[in-house]
Amino acid sequence: MRALTYQGPSKVRVENKPDPRIEHPQDVILKVTRAAICGSDLHLLHGLVPDTRVGCTFGHEFTGVVEDMGREVKSLRQGDRVVVPFNISCGSCFYCQRHLTALCENSNPASDVASGVYGYSHTTGGFEGGQAEYVRVPYADVGPMKIPDDMDEEEVLFLSDIFPTGYQGAEMGEIKAGETVVVFGAGPVGLFAMKSAWLMGAGRVIAVDHIPYRLAFAEQYAKVETVNFKEVGDVVMHLREMCGGRGADVCIDAVGMEADGSKMHTVLGLVMKAEAGAPTAINWCIDTVRKGGNVSIIGVYGPPWNLVSIGTAMNKGLTLRMNQCNVRRYMPHLLEHIRSGRVDAKGIITHRFSLEDAPQAYHLFAQKRDNCVKCVLAPHG
Ligand code: NAD
Ligand code: ZN
Ligand code: ZN
Repeated sequence: MRALTYQGPSKVRVENKPDPRIEHPQDVILKVTRAAICGSDLHLLHGLVPDTRVGCTFGHEFTGVVEDMGREVKSLRQGDRVVVPFNISCGSCFYCQRHLTALCENSNPASDVASGVYGYSHTTGGFEGGQAEYVRVPYADVGPMKIPDDMDEEEVLFLSDIFPTGYQGAEMGEIKAGETVVVFGAGPVGLFAMKSAWLMGAGRVIAVDHIPYRLAFAEQYAKVETVNFKEVGDVVMHLREMCGGRGADVCIDAVGMEADGSKMHTVLGLVMKAEAGAPTAINWCIDTVRKGGNVSIIGVYGPPWNLVSIGTAMNKGLTLRMNQCNVRRYMPHLLEHIRSGRVDAKGIITHRFSLEDAPQAYHLFAQKRDNCVKCVLAPHG
Protein backbone atom coordinates (compact mmCIF):
# COMPACT_ATOMS: atom_id res chain seq x y z
CA MET A 1 0.00 0.00 0.00
CA ARG A 2 0.95 3.67 -0.21
CA ALA A 3 1.67 5.62 2.97
CA LEU A 4 2.99 9.03 4.04
CA THR A 5 6.21 8.45 5.96
CA TYR A 6 8.75 10.41 7.97
CA GLN A 7 12.17 10.89 6.42
CA GLY A 8 13.90 13.11 9.01
CA PRO A 9 13.19 16.71 10.11
CA SER A 10 11.06 18.60 7.56
CA LYS A 11 10.98 15.61 5.21
CA VAL A 12 8.04 13.36 4.45
CA ARG A 13 7.31 11.24 1.38
CA VAL A 14 4.76 8.79 0.09
CA GLU A 15 6.16 5.29 -0.35
CA ASN A 16 5.18 1.64 -0.63
CA LYS A 17 4.80 -0.26 2.62
CA PRO A 18 3.44 -3.71 3.43
CA ASP A 19 -0.33 -3.83 3.96
CA PRO A 20 -1.20 -4.01 7.66
CA ARG A 21 -2.36 -7.40 8.98
CA ILE A 22 -4.50 -8.52 11.88
CA GLU A 23 -1.96 -8.98 14.70
CA HIS A 24 -4.38 -9.59 17.54
CA PRO A 25 -7.93 -11.05 17.64
CA GLN A 26 -9.33 -7.63 18.70
CA ASP A 27 -7.84 -5.78 15.69
CA VAL A 28 -9.58 -4.54 12.59
CA ILE A 29 -8.01 -3.35 9.35
CA LEU A 30 -9.58 -0.21 7.91
CA LYS A 31 -9.52 0.98 4.35
CA VAL A 32 -8.89 4.67 5.05
CA THR A 33 -11.47 7.00 3.50
CA ARG A 34 -10.27 10.34 4.90
CA ALA A 35 -7.17 11.32 6.91
CA ALA A 36 -6.48 14.82 8.20
CA ILE A 37 -3.17 16.53 8.96
CA CYS A 38 -2.97 17.98 12.48
CA GLY A 39 -0.86 20.62 14.20
CA SER A 40 0.47 17.70 16.24
CA ASP A 41 1.84 16.18 13.02
CA LEU A 42 3.88 19.35 12.59
CA HIS A 43 5.67 18.61 15.87
CA LEU A 44 6.66 15.27 14.33
CA LEU A 45 7.61 16.91 11.05
CA HIS A 46 9.78 19.41 12.92
CA GLY A 47 11.57 16.60 14.75
CA LEU A 48 10.23 17.73 18.16
CA VAL A 49 8.91 14.34 19.27
CA PRO A 50 11.54 11.93 20.62
CA ASP A 51 11.99 8.56 18.90
CA THR A 52 10.27 9.48 15.63
CA ARG A 53 11.78 6.86 13.35
CA VAL A 54 12.46 7.23 9.65
CA GLY A 55 9.87 5.28 7.67
CA CYS A 56 7.03 5.47 10.20
CA THR A 57 3.60 6.38 8.84
CA PHE A 58 1.96 9.52 10.26
CA GLY A 59 -1.72 10.23 10.81
CA HIS A 60 -4.00 10.01 13.84
CA GLU A 61 -7.18 11.66 12.52
CA PHE A 62 -8.99 9.31 10.15
CA THR A 63 -12.16 7.58 9.05
CA GLY A 64 -12.33 4.23 7.30
CA VAL A 65 -14.31 1.19 6.23
CA VAL A 66 -13.81 -2.14 8.01
CA GLU A 67 -11.96 -4.40 5.55
CA ASP A 68 -10.84 -7.27 7.77
CA MET A 69 -11.40 -8.15 11.42
CA GLY A 70 -9.99 -10.30 14.19
CA ARG A 71 -12.10 -13.13 15.57
CA GLU A 72 -12.84 -11.47 18.92
CA VAL A 73 -14.27 -8.23 17.50
CA LYS A 74 -17.97 -8.06 18.41
CA SER A 75 -19.31 -4.60 17.64
CA LEU A 76 -18.17 -4.12 14.04
CA ARG A 77 -18.86 -5.86 10.71
CA GLN A 78 -17.06 -5.79 7.39
CA GLY A 79 -18.13 -2.69 5.48
CA ASP A 80 -18.95 -0.61 8.58
CA ARG A 81 -17.86 3.02 8.27
CA VAL A 82 -16.12 4.34 11.38
CA VAL A 83 -14.34 7.34 12.85
CA VAL A 84 -11.46 6.49 15.19
CA PRO A 85 -10.16 8.41 18.26
CA PHE A 86 -6.47 9.27 18.07
CA ASN A 87 -5.82 7.63 21.46
CA ILE A 88 -5.45 3.86 21.45
CA SER A 89 -7.14 2.50 24.56
CA CYS A 90 -7.86 -0.94 25.95
CA GLY A 91 -11.26 -0.13 27.48
CA SER A 92 -10.64 -2.05 30.70
CA CYS A 93 -7.67 -0.65 32.66
CA PHE A 94 -7.87 1.68 35.69
CA TYR A 95 -7.89 4.78 33.47
CA CYS A 96 -10.14 3.48 30.69
CA GLN A 97 -12.76 2.50 33.30
CA ARG A 98 -12.77 6.17 34.33
CA HIS A 99 -13.10 7.31 30.68
CA LEU A 100 -9.54 8.70 30.79
CA THR A 101 -8.66 6.93 27.55
CA ALA A 102 -5.73 9.25 26.85
CA LEU A 103 -4.05 7.69 29.90
CA CYS A 104 -4.63 4.00 29.09
CA GLU A 105 -2.00 1.83 30.77
CA ASN A 106 -2.16 -1.05 28.31
CA SER A 107 -1.86 0.64 24.92
CA ASN A 108 1.82 1.52 25.34
CA PRO A 109 3.27 -0.67 28.10
CA ALA A 110 6.79 0.59 27.39
CA SER A 111 5.98 3.97 28.95
CA ASP A 112 4.35 5.00 32.19
CA VAL A 113 3.75 8.51 30.82
CA ALA A 114 2.65 8.29 27.18
CA SER A 115 -0.23 6.08 26.03
CA GLY A 116 -0.69 4.70 22.52
CA VAL A 117 -1.44 7.08 19.64
CA TYR A 118 -1.64 6.27 15.93
CA GLY A 119 1.27 7.49 13.82
CA TYR A 120 2.96 9.40 16.61
CA SER A 121 6.49 8.01 17.08
CA HIS A 122 7.74 5.16 19.25
CA THR A 123 7.30 7.43 22.28
CA THR A 124 3.58 6.67 21.97
CA GLY A 125 3.97 3.02 21.08
CA GLY A 126 5.21 2.99 17.47
CA PHE A 127 1.75 2.39 15.97
CA GLU A 128 1.42 3.03 12.24
CA GLY A 129 -0.78 5.98 11.30
CA GLY A 130 -3.77 6.54 9.07
CA GLN A 131 -2.26 8.75 6.36
CA ALA A 132 -2.14 5.60 4.27
CA GLU A 133 -4.42 3.40 2.22
CA TYR A 134 -4.97 1.00 5.13
CA VAL A 135 -4.43 1.08 8.89
CA ARG A 136 -4.55 -1.45 11.72
CA VAL A 137 -6.86 -0.48 14.59
CA PRO A 138 -6.25 -2.36 17.88
CA TYR A 139 -8.99 -2.80 20.54
CA ALA A 140 -11.55 -2.31 17.78
CA ASP A 141 -14.54 -2.68 20.11
CA VAL A 142 -13.32 0.23 22.24
CA GLY A 143 -12.30 3.22 20.10
CA PRO A 144 -14.05 3.31 16.72
CA MET A 145 -17.52 4.86 16.48
CA LYS A 146 -19.83 3.96 13.60
CA ILE A 147 -20.67 6.80 11.26
CA PRO A 148 -24.46 7.29 11.00
CA ASP A 149 -25.82 6.34 7.56
CA ASP A 150 -27.02 9.86 6.86
CA MET A 151 -23.63 11.50 7.53
CA ASP A 152 -20.53 11.65 5.38
CA GLU A 153 -16.92 11.06 6.44
CA GLU A 154 -15.89 14.69 6.44
CA GLU A 155 -18.74 15.73 8.70
CA VAL A 156 -17.48 13.44 11.47
CA LEU A 157 -13.74 13.27 10.73
CA PHE A 158 -12.80 15.81 13.38
CA LEU A 159 -14.46 13.78 16.12
CA SER A 160 -11.21 11.77 15.91
CA ASP A 161 -9.31 14.56 17.67
CA ILE A 162 -9.65 18.31 17.24
CA PHE A 163 -13.33 18.88 18.04
CA PRO A 164 -13.14 16.82 21.28
CA THR A 165 -9.76 18.43 22.04
CA GLY A 166 -11.13 21.95 21.68
CA TYR A 167 -14.22 20.96 23.65
CA GLN A 168 -12.23 19.42 26.47
CA GLY A 169 -10.06 22.54 26.50
CA ALA A 170 -13.14 24.66 27.08
CA GLU A 171 -14.50 22.19 29.63
CA MET A 172 -11.24 22.27 31.63
CA GLY A 173 -11.57 26.06 31.73
CA GLU A 174 -14.82 25.57 33.69
CA ILE A 175 -16.38 28.49 31.84
CA LYS A 176 -19.33 30.03 33.66
CA ALA A 177 -22.17 31.86 31.93
CA GLY A 178 -21.10 35.26 30.68
CA GLU A 179 -17.36 34.79 31.29
CA THR A 180 -14.62 36.10 29.05
CA VAL A 181 -12.44 33.46 27.39
CA VAL A 182 -9.20 34.16 25.53
CA VAL A 183 -8.02 31.43 23.15
CA PHE A 184 -4.36 31.60 22.07
CA GLY A 185 -3.91 29.98 18.64
CA ALA A 186 -6.47 30.31 15.85
CA GLY A 187 -5.59 26.98 14.23
CA PRO A 188 -8.05 24.09 13.93
CA VAL A 189 -7.80 23.20 17.63
CA GLY A 190 -8.26 26.81 18.72
CA LEU A 191 -11.29 27.16 16.43
CA PHE A 192 -13.04 24.24 18.12
CA ALA A 193 -12.10 25.60 21.56
CA MET A 194 -13.76 28.90 20.58
CA LYS A 195 -16.90 27.17 19.30
CA SER A 196 -17.01 25.09 22.48
CA ALA A 197 -16.57 28.15 24.71
CA TRP A 198 -19.78 29.54 23.18
CA LEU A 199 -21.54 26.19 23.69
CA MET A 200 -20.61 26.45 27.37
CA GLY A 201 -22.13 29.88 27.78
CA ALA A 202 -19.16 32.24 27.44
CA GLY A 203 -20.15 35.89 27.23
CA ARG A 204 -17.14 36.93 25.22
CA VAL A 205 -14.50 34.98 23.26
CA ILE A 206 -11.26 36.53 22.02
CA ALA A 207 -8.85 34.79 19.62
CA VAL A 208 -5.13 35.61 19.59
CA ASP A 209 -2.79 34.73 16.72
CA HIS A 210 -0.43 36.56 14.38
CA ILE A 211 -1.57 35.23 11.02
CA PRO A 212 -4.13 37.64 9.56
CA TYR A 213 -5.99 35.08 7.44
CA ARG A 214 -6.42 32.77 10.42
CA LEU A 215 -7.77 35.58 12.59
CA ALA A 216 -10.17 36.54 9.79
CA PHE A 217 -11.27 32.90 9.53
CA ALA A 218 -11.84 32.71 13.30
CA GLU A 219 -13.86 35.91 13.26
CA GLN A 220 -16.16 34.57 10.59
CA TYR A 221 -16.28 30.87 11.60
CA ALA A 222 -16.39 31.19 15.39
CA LYS A 223 -17.80 34.74 15.69
CA VAL A 224 -15.02 35.88 18.01
CA GLU A 225 -13.15 39.12 18.58
CA THR A 226 -9.55 38.91 17.41
CA VAL A 227 -6.15 40.23 18.44
CA ASN A 228 -3.04 40.06 16.26
CA PHE A 229 -0.22 39.83 18.79
CA LYS A 230 2.28 41.26 16.31
CA GLU A 231 0.22 44.44 15.97
CA VAL A 232 -0.60 45.39 19.55
CA GLY A 233 2.75 45.79 21.29
CA ASP A 234 2.44 44.19 24.72
CA VAL A 235 -0.22 41.58 24.03
CA VAL A 236 -0.81 40.77 27.70
CA MET A 237 -1.47 44.42 28.62
CA HIS A 238 -3.64 44.81 25.54
CA LEU A 239 -5.77 41.79 26.45
CA ARG A 240 -6.08 42.79 30.08
CA GLU A 241 -7.26 46.22 29.05
CA MET A 242 -9.81 44.59 26.75
CA CYS A 243 -10.98 42.64 29.81
CA GLY A 244 -11.61 45.67 32.00
CA GLY A 245 -8.08 45.73 33.44
CA ARG A 246 -8.59 42.66 35.62
CA GLY A 247 -7.86 40.03 32.97
CA ALA A 248 -9.76 37.20 31.33
CA ASP A 249 -11.70 34.64 33.37
CA VAL A 250 -10.34 31.74 31.36
CA CYS A 251 -7.33 31.42 29.02
CA ILE A 252 -6.82 28.48 26.69
CA ASP A 253 -3.46 27.60 25.13
CA ALA A 254 -4.16 26.02 21.74
CA VAL A 255 -0.63 26.60 20.46
CA GLY A 256 1.80 24.17 22.07
CA MET A 257 5.40 23.77 21.02
CA GLU A 258 5.92 26.82 18.86
CA ALA A 259 3.65 25.55 16.13
CA ASP A 260 4.54 28.53 13.95
CA GLY A 261 8.19 27.57 13.90
CA SER A 262 9.24 30.92 15.37
CA LYS A 263 11.83 29.29 17.60
CA MET A 264 13.14 26.89 15.00
CA HIS A 265 16.48 27.30 13.30
CA THR A 266 15.61 27.46 9.67
CA VAL A 267 17.84 27.07 6.65
CA LEU A 268 16.36 27.78 3.21
CA GLY A 269 12.91 27.61 4.76
CA LEU A 270 13.44 24.13 6.18
CA VAL A 271 13.30 23.58 9.91
CA MET A 272 16.65 22.11 10.95
CA LYS A 273 16.59 22.04 14.71
CA ALA A 274 14.18 23.10 17.40
CA GLU A 275 15.36 25.27 20.24
CA ALA A 276 13.67 24.72 23.58
CA GLY A 277 12.63 28.09 24.96
CA ALA A 278 10.08 29.30 27.49
CA PRO A 279 6.65 28.47 26.07
CA THR A 280 5.19 31.77 24.97
CA ALA A 281 1.52 30.85 24.84
CA ILE A 282 1.35 29.25 28.31
CA ASN A 283 3.03 32.21 29.93
CA TRP A 284 0.78 34.63 28.07
CA CYS A 285 -2.18 32.63 29.43
CA ILE A 286 -0.87 32.88 32.98
CA ASP A 287 -0.24 36.60 32.64
CA THR A 288 -3.53 37.41 30.88
CA VAL A 289 -5.92 35.48 33.12
CA ARG A 290 -7.35 37.27 36.17
CA LYS A 291 -6.40 36.25 39.70
CA GLY A 292 -8.22 33.06 40.64
CA GLY A 293 -8.84 32.29 36.97
CA ASN A 294 -8.44 29.08 34.99
CA VAL A 295 -5.77 28.22 32.45
CA SER A 296 -6.42 25.28 30.16
CA ILE A 297 -3.54 23.88 28.12
CA ILE A 298 -4.36 21.77 25.09
CA GLY A 299 -1.38 22.74 22.95
CA VAL A 300 1.11 19.87 23.08
CA TYR A 301 4.42 20.19 24.96
CA GLY A 302 7.29 17.77 25.41
CA PRO A 303 9.80 17.56 28.26
CA PRO A 304 12.17 20.31 26.99
CA TRP A 305 9.37 22.82 27.45
CA ASN A 306 9.26 22.65 31.24
CA LEU A 307 9.85 26.38 31.72
CA VAL A 308 6.53 27.71 32.94
CA SER A 309 5.83 30.78 35.14
CA ILE A 310 4.81 28.65 38.06
CA GLY A 311 5.63 31.40 40.61
CA THR A 312 3.20 33.82 38.99
CA ALA A 313 0.58 31.10 38.71
CA MET A 314 0.95 30.24 42.39
CA ASN A 315 0.63 33.80 43.62
CA LYS A 316 -2.34 34.53 41.37
CA GLY A 317 -4.10 31.45 42.75
CA LEU A 318 -4.66 29.98 39.31
CA THR A 319 -6.02 26.61 38.35
CA LEU A 320 -3.97 25.04 35.56
CA ARG A 321 -5.32 21.99 33.77
CA MET A 322 -3.93 20.18 30.77
CA ASN A 323 -4.00 16.89 28.94
CA GLN A 324 -4.18 14.89 25.79
CA CYS A 325 -7.85 14.69 25.01
CA ASN A 326 -9.85 11.67 26.19
CA VAL A 327 -11.49 11.65 22.79
CA ARG A 328 -13.83 8.67 23.05
CA ARG A 329 -15.99 10.04 25.89
CA TYR A 330 -16.95 13.14 23.87
CA MET A 331 -17.71 11.54 20.51
CA PRO A 332 -21.43 10.73 20.89
CA HIS A 333 -22.26 14.11 22.44
CA LEU A 334 -20.31 16.15 19.88
CA LEU A 335 -21.77 14.10 17.03
CA GLU A 336 -25.14 15.54 18.10
CA HIS A 337 -23.80 19.09 17.92
CA ILE A 338 -22.69 18.39 14.34
CA ARG A 339 -25.91 16.63 13.36
CA SER A 340 -28.05 19.45 14.75
CA GLY A 341 -26.09 22.01 12.74
CA ARG A 342 -24.84 23.86 15.84
CA VAL A 343 -21.25 23.14 14.80
CA ASP A 344 -20.25 22.86 11.15
CA ALA A 345 -17.11 20.81 11.78
CA LYS A 346 -16.45 20.22 8.09
CA GLY A 347 -16.49 23.99 7.57
CA ILE A 348 -12.84 24.34 8.65
CA ILE A 349 -11.54 22.24 5.73
CA THR A 350 -9.76 24.56 3.32
CA HIS A 351 -7.73 22.03 1.29
CA ARG A 352 -8.23 18.50 -0.01
CA PHE A 353 -5.42 16.38 -1.49
CA SER A 354 -4.78 12.88 -2.77
CA LEU A 355 -2.45 10.75 -0.66
CA GLU A 356 0.26 11.16 -3.31
CA ASP A 357 0.17 14.93 -2.76
CA ALA A 358 0.39 14.67 1.03
CA PRO A 359 3.95 16.11 1.25
CA GLN A 360 2.70 19.25 -0.49
CA ALA A 361 -0.16 19.43 2.01
CA TYR A 362 2.31 19.20 4.91
CA HIS A 363 4.39 22.07 3.65
CA LEU A 364 1.39 24.26 2.94
CA PHE A 365 -0.01 23.62 6.43
CA ALA A 366 3.39 24.03 8.13
CA GLN A 367 4.12 27.31 6.39
CA LYS A 368 0.55 28.62 6.82
CA ARG A 369 0.31 29.52 3.14
CA ASP A 370 -2.58 29.82 0.72
CA ASN A 371 -5.08 30.55 3.53
CA CYS A 372 -4.62 26.99 4.78
CA VAL A 373 -6.57 26.08 7.91
CA LYS A 374 -7.06 22.30 7.63
CA CYS A 375 -5.89 19.77 5.04
CA VAL A 376 -7.69 16.49 4.41
CA LEU A 377 -6.33 13.56 2.37
CA ALA A 378 -8.48 11.11 0.42
CA PRO A 379 -6.27 7.99 0.12
CA HIS A 380 -8.65 6.21 -2.28
CA GLY A 381 -9.91 9.27 -4.15
P1 NAD B 1 -1.76 24.91 13.99
O1 NAD B 1 -0.31 24.89 13.81
O2 NAD B 1 -2.61 24.86 12.76
O3 NAD B 1 -2.23 26.22 14.80
C1 NAD B 1 -1.49 26.85 15.80
C2 NAD B 1 -1.73 28.35 15.70
O4 NAD B 1 -1.08 28.99 16.80
C3 NAD B 1 -1.18 28.96 14.42
O5 NAD B 1 -2.20 29.64 13.72
C4 NAD B 1 -0.06 29.89 14.92
O6 NAD B 1 0.09 31.03 14.12
C5 NAD B 1 -0.56 30.23 16.32
N1 NAD B 1 0.45 30.69 17.27
C6 NAD B 1 1.79 30.41 17.33
N2 NAD B 1 2.34 31.00 18.40
C7 NAD B 1 1.35 31.67 19.05
C8 NAD B 1 1.30 32.45 20.23
N3 NAD B 1 2.40 32.65 20.99
N4 NAD B 1 0.11 32.98 20.60
C9 NAD B 1 -1.02 32.77 19.86
N5 NAD B 1 -1.02 32.04 18.72
C10 NAD B 1 0.15 31.49 18.33
O7 NAD B 1 -2.12 23.70 14.97
P2 NAD B 1 -3.50 23.05 15.50
O8 NAD B 1 -3.82 21.87 14.64
O9 NAD B 1 -4.54 24.07 15.72
O10 NAD B 1 -2.98 22.47 16.89
C11 NAD B 1 -2.68 23.39 17.95
C12 NAD B 1 -1.99 22.67 19.10
O11 NAD B 1 -2.90 21.71 19.68
C13 NAD B 1 -0.74 21.86 18.70
O12 NAD B 1 0.26 22.02 19.70
C14 NAD B 1 -1.22 20.45 18.71
O13 NAD B 1 -0.19 19.52 18.94
C15 NAD B 1 -2.19 20.50 19.87
N6 NAD B 1 -3.15 19.37 19.96
C16 NAD B 1 -3.39 18.87 21.21
C17 NAD B 1 -4.26 17.82 21.38
C18 NAD B 1 -4.56 17.29 22.75
O14 NAD B 1 -5.10 16.19 22.87
N7 NAD B 1 -4.26 18.02 23.81
C19 NAD B 1 -4.89 17.27 20.27
C20 NAD B 1 -4.66 17.83 19.00
C21 NAD B 1 -3.77 18.88 18.86
ZN1 ZN C 1 -4.53 15.70 15.85
ZN1 ZN D 1 -6.82 1.16 29.09
